[in-house]
Amino acid sequence: MKLKDPTLNDPKQEVAELFVGLCLQKLVEMEKVERQQVNGKWYVEFNAAKLQRKGFGGAASLDCNNRPVIYLLPQLNVDGLMFVIAHEAVHLAQICRGDFVPLFGFSIWKAQEYVLLSVDDPKYTEAQPWEAEADDLSPVLLEHLKLKCVLDPEDAT
Ligand SMILES: [Zn+2]
Repeated sequence: MKLKDPTLNDPKQEVAELFVGLCLQKLVEMEKVERQQVNGKWYVEFNAAKLQRKGFGGAASLDCNNRPVIYLLPQLNVDGLMFVIAHEAVHLAQICRGDFVPLFGFSIWKAQEYVLLSVDDPKYTEAQPWEAEADDLSPVLLEHLKLKCVLDPEDAT
């Protein structure tokens, strides 16, 4: 008998999956990715160890089995999750449609290799097309999430 996965009933895990799903749905509507490229292809994992090195709230990546994944910091609150997921969902879509392959120390974007810039590099967004696209689309996704999940600000603890 298999032990029950303790993350299955974790409300934060469910909220994160809901947010990623809503973002991807919006990206499909915007024709940034095809439904069959994302449906059932990804998962979300709260994993601080995967993020420590970068100092980010989240990261979209491929796991060791080449499955697209979004790693998230466990201490994010609902607002933080929305903000981070609105950005990382764009990267997830890029990975699922095959444009973006994040690797160690460099990335492949549309079959071209890019050395990764550090977050404080002034050219971080303009010199990395996957970041430029995420920058462009994440405000739309964040707005979409806020509209879909009308939260009472008093509730956001
Ligand atoms: Zn990014």
